Amino acid sequence: MSALKLDKARMSVIASVLVLFIFSCGALGGANSAQQPVRARNVVLIIGDAGGIPALHAGSLYHHNKPNGLFLQTLPQIALMDSSAADAWVTDSAAGISAIVTGQKTNNGVLSQAPNAVRGKQDGTILKTILEYAEEHGLSTGVMTNVPATDATAAGCYAHVNDRSQTAEIIKHLLAPRAGDGVDVLIGAGRQRIMDAVQAAGIDLGAELQKRGYRFYAKPEEAVTSNGRTVALFDTMDFDLPAQVTNTVKTLSRNPKGYFLMVECDVHTDKLKIGLDHVAVLDQIVRQIVEGAGEDTLVIFCADHSFDIRVRGGKPGQPLLEGNESAGGAKPFIRVDNGHTGEQVLVAAKGPGAEKIHGFIANNDLFGIMLAAYGWKPSEAPKEISQR
Ligand SMILES: [Zn+2]
Repeated sequence: MSALKLDKARMSVIASVLVLFIFSCGALGGANSAQQPVRARNVVLIIGDAGGIPALHAGSLYHHNKPNGLFLQTLPQIALMDSSAADAWVTDSAAGISAIVTGQKTNNGVLSQAPNAVRGKQDGTILKTILEYAEEHGLSTGVMTNVPATDATAAGCYAHVNDRSQTAEIIKHLLAPRAGDGVDVLIGAGRQRIMDAVQAAGIDLGAELQKRGYRFYAKPEEAVTSNGRTVALFDTMDFDLPAQVTNTVKTLSRNPKGYFLMVECDVHTDKLKIGLDHVAVLDQIVRQIVEGAGEDTLVIFCADHSFDIRVRGGKPGQPLLEGNESAGGAKPFIRVDNGHTGEQVLVAAKGPGAEKIHGFIANNDLFGIMLAAYGWKPSEAPKEISQR
């Protein structure tokens, strides 16, 4: 009996090895025949903040006078993504980015901590972000946004706080990374607010950044030629984000191991014309990333949540906002109610791993899709803040 058992055990080992061998051959064969790498060397996550389908649709009508006119609407893989938070059907940007980059939904207001966090009161379990995985694996990393660099979507990639409004604490996390040497390129707006917050907390940000090998910029025209570790905080959101993205990709690409980059373009449409103009900027960023990226780059576009904007009128050939200007309080072509909404948002993707973007998924599925695209597995139990 024992000999038979041994044989069985041995046979099952041989069978497993054989299955593994056949599987790897199949994977390699697939790669060769399709001339596409199985794994992604780079992942670029582009987030249209509040860029749900209604905002994208209005942006297409406004800029191209036709539906489906955006470049991002040509991406080969799409899915509809539930954007809800752990504690609410309608998410804010904090819980939104946390789910996307950690794989776990959390409470509104909380950044990359589990839902045992109480907003503004109590820390929860630390959730490791895809950026931290990338740092651990020796990749270069970047976080870019046209809103303040400590606002929720950017901060959720590199900080773990129980309230998104804790600006100084968020900067402390930037300066004391939990993985690798932390974010290599951080570019965004909000300079005055951030400088005020760190000053009040007794942090000499310029000196601290210099110690960690960063160049610290205040002017877009200077940051756009930077070629190393960079923190750039601009006074306003009116800078050329696509130009900064081009330069950052050039910088991050120097790492042969690859990179992770998150780019946020805010497209909140409460200020309608500004919001719709930003849809064009967002679309330009998606286009230049997709057209410039090699076959080994997974590019994912998604919104973190939708927004209450509705197209209710207009026709081909007629400027979309004309109907709003002439309506005089009657029925405008576009109706905007200032608020996030809870319906599914678009995810669109291209590159290795993009095939998993289909059907109905949830915001916290994207983390696993990105991790698998790199060929990594989830590691280590999450640590409590007290153990940092
Ligand atoms: Zn948002």
